Amino acid sequence: MLYLSTRGHPDRKRFCEILLEGLAPDGGLYLPESYPQVDAATLARWRSVFNDGAPGGYAALAFEVLSLYIDDIPAADLKALCEKTYTEAVYGTPQIVPLKRLEKPSDTQGGLCLEALSNGPTLAFKDMAMQLLGNLFEYELSRRGEELNILGATSGDTGSAAEYAMRGKRGVRVFMLSPHGRMSPFQQAQMFSLMDQNIHNIAIEGVFDDCQDIVKNVSNDLDFKRGYKIGTVNSINWARLLAQVVYYFAGYFQATKTDSQKVSFTVPSGNFGNVCAGHVARMMGLPIDTLVVATNENDVLDEFFRTGVYRVRASADTHETSSPSMDISKASNFERFVFDLLGRDGARVQALFGEALSRQGRFDLSADPAFAQAATRYGFVSGKSTHADRLRTIKDTYEQHGVVIDTHTADGVKVAHEHQKPGVPMVVLETALPIKFAETIVEALGRQPERPPQFEGIEALPKRVQVMPADTAAIQTYIAAHCARA
Ligand SMILES: *Cc1c(COP(=O)(O)O)cnc(C)c1O
Repeated sequence: MLYLSTRGHPDRKRFCEILLEGLAPDGGLYLPESYPQVDAATLARWRSVFNDGAPGGYAALAFEVLSLYIDDIPAADLKALCEKTYTEAVYGTPQIVPLKRLEKPSDTQGGLCLEALSNGPTLAFKDMAMQLLGNLFEYELSRRGEELNILGATSGDTGSAAEYAMRGKRGVRVFMLSPHGRMSPFQQAQMFSLMDQNIHNIAIEGVFDDCQDIVKNVSNDLDFKRGYKIGTVNSINWARLLAQVVYYFAGYFQATKTDSQKVSFTVPSGNFGNVCAGHVARMMGLPIDTLVVATNENDVLDEFFRTGVYRVRASADTHETSSPSMDISKASNFERFVFDLLGRDGARVQALFGEALSRQGRFDLSADPAFAQAATRYGFVSGKSTHADRLRTIKDTYEQHGVVIDTHTADGVKVAHEHQKPGVPMVVLETALPIKFAETIVEALGRQPERPPQFEGIEALPKRVQVMPADTAAIQTYIAAHCARA
């Protein structure tokens, strides 16, 4: 399998070449040259491989999916990496991603369930991909005899998922910038209580955008970047997206009895990474009826799917919401879908994302016949949710089903209800556990969410964090002091 750039660059690369890279050289995102097709016989075989989530089933399914896209890691090694990643010990359940049924099928709709993707070490779905990435990085770096220094910016979930995936890994260091004093106490405790020598928490005196600007500045300093082997783990990484494709298959097998049935998925969305994995699964032939994109008040994506206009927001116009992991001004993975929507025309994608967006901050596909296909051919619909919707959905879900959902998942459940169909089960992806966003749960239910036992008292643990000014040179000095120049 070879990978190409969404902006038409002629080079083709293999999986392990793009694994440690960010953007393609022309600023585009990597995608496979074509989507491997899963025929009826393969789907049936995968259903038995997954084996209803029996121990080892998820890892075996992950190996099947990944093998179609990765041909430069020997099969036995890839299998071992999947088995090491997706264990009951890490996820607390043999199914890894169990379904919870909320509503039984009825005459007017096909039933609603949650797919639990948040049982990993940091209680958000990002663990599903990041844990695999940690093992892939360690494997590939040791094969090459190289080291990597990961520099990232986080407002919460990404940073902790990256740190728990990379802690103690050979050849990898993490330098994670977060806005000083702005993450929830639980999120701060999760990250800052890590004592591993290869993890560096840096709290920046500023906001999230300041952190992101520093990461950009350092990445643009090519001499420093090469000299200190700086890399990233952001959501445009193809390996992360690929790991997420697996749980669409696992969700499908759990929600259906036979492969003739269809399922819809609702995905709480920010950077369009998670739902883009659903798009890839659908392109491979997984019988997905509808992919429902759920946004919060930051409705860049909902606006596109309703109107055909993609309009990025200024950071000053980005709302700070109670589903903060979806507070984005632009959706960094969206370009991958637009590439497919426009018939994989790299020159057009370059004109839209490389030119129109940077000049005007928007582009308009409403008059393009391709736009209608977003719904008709690719199955996309959308909706949005507000703080009031979120509170009501958390309360209703608790009162009607006895299940406490987190704020992001609540955005999904709210929008899922608007797109249910008879005969088609709706699976809402549970993207985090409620304990991570306790303040809003208290506002909705008047009580604290349940805390998994391993997180009892983490706020009181000693913290390992360096507070620093929002100054690129100071961060570069810090990185240089903590790793050897190659
Ligand atoms: C990252 C995140 C999202 C958004 O996922 P995307 O892949 O960026 O669309 C939604 N919910 C939670 C809890 C997250 O951490």
